[in-house]
Amino acid sequence: MELIQEMATHLPLFWWGGLAIIGLCVGSFLNVLIYRLPIMIDRAQQANRAEPSAFTSVEAGDNAPSFDLLLPASRCPECGEPIKWQHNIPLFSWLYLRGTSHCCKKQISTGYPLTELAAMIIALLSGFLIPPGLSLLGVLIFSWLLLALAIIDGKTWLLPDALTYPLLWLGLLFNLKETFISLPDAVVGAVAGYCLLWGFNFLTSRWVNKNCMGNGDFKLTAAIAAWCGWQCLPQLLLLAALSGIISILLLRLLSGRSFKTAIPFGPGLAIAGLLQISGLIVI
Ligand SMILES: [Zn+2]
Repeated sequence: MELIQEMATHLPLFWWGGLAIIGLCVGSFLNVLIYRLPIMIDRAQQANRAEPSAFTSVEAGDNAPSFDLLLPASRCPECGEPIKWQHNIPLFSWLYLRGTSHCCKKQISTGYPLTELAAMIIALLSGFLIPPGLSLLGVLIFSWLLLALAIIDGKTWLLPDALTYPLLWLGLLFNLKETFISLPDAVVGAVAGYCLLWGFNFLTSRWVNKNCMGNGDFKLTAAIAAWCGWQCLPQLLLLAALSGIISILLLRLLSGRSFKTAIPFGPGLAIAGLLQISGLIVI
């Protein structure tokens, strides 16, 4: 460990600058993903519901404006004015404009710069703990995807397949060469992770007459275990449940919410996943 940190302090300045810039740019992209993906899912579901039968000639959503990760270009959430590139520089534009929009001077959510800052901190911290190589790339992808999933689940109670599935496949691919754990441990982890949570939900739903978890939680657990192995599962679920309990206590203390307040499980799983992968790389 000391050896890696000693190596890290000898890495050139442009390496750290590059890592920080990449972190900020990824954070900016994650903001787009966090905002647009739930809307894209909602639109797709609406289009499916409105889908005409195969016997009609009317096509649903014919005139729907295109809305994806690239289009339309970024606009001010208040007045709809397109955002110029100089007002869209991650973190710095928000600081320069003192948290307001350039066009109508309305307050811009602190969530945007905080996501960019978190992505940058992930990049720098990972760079400090892991030497340049496949492990570093893996940890960065793993952590950034978990960051996006945690925020999306926290805001919308959704864990999109478009993120959980790639996280799972990438975990298996990175472990083809035992980057973090052996491939059999990864495969067994993914299957066991999914089955454990599905089984838990199956039993508890019979007891309380409602689902306590969603399919996304099963897939996210499987995905994390594909990176960290089946051995991580007891600690992962314990830590995720613990962060859930702490969140409920904080909500009770800070905003007086009831102890029965339902909270999404994804953020807790994400925090637990980050701790688990840290345990694998920091020896
Ligand atoms: Zn505006």
